[in-house]
Amino acid sequence: MPTDVFAPAPKIERIRHELKRRDLVVVAKQHVTPAMLRITLSGEAAADFVSLAPDDHIKIFIPAETGDIERRDYTPRSYNPATRTIVIDFALHEAGPATLWALEAQVGDTLSIGGPKGSAVVSPDIAHWLLIGDETALPAIGRRIEEARAGQNITALIAVTGPDEQQDFVSQANLDIHWAHRPLSDAANAEPLLQKLQDIEILPETFVWIAAEAMVTRELRRYLLEQRAHPLSWTKAAGYWVKGKADSHEKFE
Ligand SMILES: Cc1cc2nc3c(=O)[nH]c(=O)nc-3n(C[C@H](O)[C@H](O)[C@H](O)COP(=O)(O)OP(=O)(O)OC[C@H]3O[C@@H](n4cnc5c(N)ncnc54)[C@H](O)[C@@H]3O)c2cc1C
Repeated sequence: MPTDVFAPAPKIERIRHELKRRDLVVVAKQHVTPAMLRITLSGEAAADFVSLAPDDHIKIFIPAETGDIERRDYTPRSYNPATRTIVIDFALHEAGPATLWALEAQVGDTLSIGGPKGSAVVSPDIAHWLLIGDETALPAIGRRIEEARAGQNITALIAVTGPDEQQDFVSQANLDIHWAHRPLSDAANAEPLLQKLQDIEILPETFVWIAAEAMVTRELRRYLLEQRAHPLSWTKAAGYWVKGKADSHEKFE
């Protein structure tokens, strides 16, 4: 049964943060999976870092050979105030400047980051979550799962290239994870996710969060609205990248 269209929209608190640029140092680099590179940044500048929502994003600033600065959006996968460390997971692909930077980064290198500008904190009372995404959404999905409280029910549906790219998460929530496998060349095709989504039950008052390539997000959002009558007020969707366009993302209101 779809969520009652008259069910009140869940509370989402939007909190602004003071916009700061921070210069940090790479203190660790490791593969989470063959195509997911984890970089840990640290420094005094991270002492007052704030990230209140799992889908917050920061800008990373990469100096280009032309002297320009390239900016890309990444999720703070975790933050530890005690060690002043911020972790970013880079989904590797055919290399834009951010991916190239991550591949070449060495312990001791520096990286400037900006933000998060704000956090959209969804009510902790939500009992059911459905998280859908691709590799670029995995950091936010992983964080949401790990930060969930006991008693919450989280279903996740994630597209990756194969079993080697699946990740394990520790959570207090009741977890049900589904993986869709497709090559990266098919990452802008919604079909692999849609096929699996058809078999996933969506209980009333489930908060659905989607982030993937923009065309995929659009298709999934439309399917949920038109075929499953899932209200937009219970859906948050974002195109985290756009096939064929550098430094691009799309918002779906
Ligand atoms: C709010 C938000 C949070 C994000 N968090 C993360 C995160 O935590 N980790 C993460 O890895 N990404 C994340 N992304 C996505 C990331 O910002 C983009 O993938 C970005 O384009 C990568 O920059 P680049 O310099 O590597 O490639 P770009 O120079 O931007 O793009 C070069 C080419 O590569 C293509 N491309 C870009 N990304 C991918 C991809 N993932 N797979 C295949 N082709 C791609 C583009 O279409 C373009 O043709 C996030 C995006 C948003 C909007």
